[in-house]
Amino acid sequence: MNRSYQTIPKHLRYTINDFNRQFPDDDACLEHLKEQRLPGGVTYCDTCQQERKHYRIKARPVYSCDHCGTQISPMAGTIFEKSTTSLRLWYYAMYLMASTRCGISAKQIQRETGVTYKTAWRMFRQIRSLLSETDMQLEGSAVEMDETYYGGTAKGRRGRPMRGDKQKSPVVGMMERSTSKRKGRVVAIATSDVSAKNLVGMAHEYILPSSTVFTDEFTSYDSLGARFRNHKRIKHSAGVYVVGDVHTNTIEGFWSLVKRGIGGVYHQVSQKYLQSYLDEYSFRYNRRDYGNLIFNEILKRVSMRASLPAARDRGTTVAQ
Ligand SMILES: [Zn+2]
Repeated sequence: MNRSYQTIPKHLRYTINDFNRQFPDDDACLEHLKEQRLPGGVTYCDTCQQERKHYRIKARPVYSCDHCGTQISPMAGTIFEKSTTSLRLWYYAMYLMASTRCGISAKQIQRETGVTYKTAWRMFRQIRSLLSETDMQLEGSAVEMDETYYGGTAKGRRGRPMRGDKQKSPVVGMMERSTSKRKGRVVAIATSDVSAKNLVGMAHEYILPSSTVFTDEFTSYDSLGARFRNHKRIKHSAGVYVVGDVHTNTIEGFWSLVKRGIGGVYHQVSQKYLQSYLDEYSFRYNRRDYGNLIFNEILKRVSMRASLPAARDRGTTVAQ
């Protein structure tokens, strides 16, 4: 489901017309990428061993040092580097991914643009690889923690798998509750097991000791209380879902969003790629008040996550 533009405040709207105006062709995208990676075309030239201005070479997607002619590519080290797909199509795929709440399928971009399914699928996989949120630290004073399961045959939120059920992939989530000052953020991690050791370890990694942690009565959370300001538990097994502020409804709402998306759009997710889908949903969720300017945030990640540093970082030699 695409977000209806009418529901997004005007200053946060970025429509397909805006996209077409800003990025009419490959050159416009390349120029944008160049500005992200070497603003103004100024960057370190390995040959001159100093900062130089670089100019676009006609007919090739490279920029050339205005002094010695050494060429550099803004695509080097990015997800676009070895791709034969046009840069504009990459940008369009990122635009689509940013403009949906529930996810976008490779089939959809295949239909819209005529690339093969395999190409579309690879593009989305590469884009998702930029969106990891698992290096985030949660700062909220109230954090809900919960696990859920993807795959397998048993249905239902309460369907914790039988021992040895390799079909089900556990996912652990930690969600800050929103306050009047800040929207709560989520971290979701695909994991191999839901042992106490594993869950408590994750809680310590992502949640501040000064936070209150809300969970259900699952035994793996038993020892949580010792390391946090407070640990409050809701007795789901007794059919109780909310007592005062004690509940895990916020994180469960997120699980529903992801499950609706994966069920309706991605159909089946292998364990191997589950984390990358979680990253995609978390990335959008954590920027839900950006409207569809989320597109800009994805574009920024292209440069942030490039494997090669910007050219200036390659040499330490000082000119003269
Ligand atoms: Zn040079």
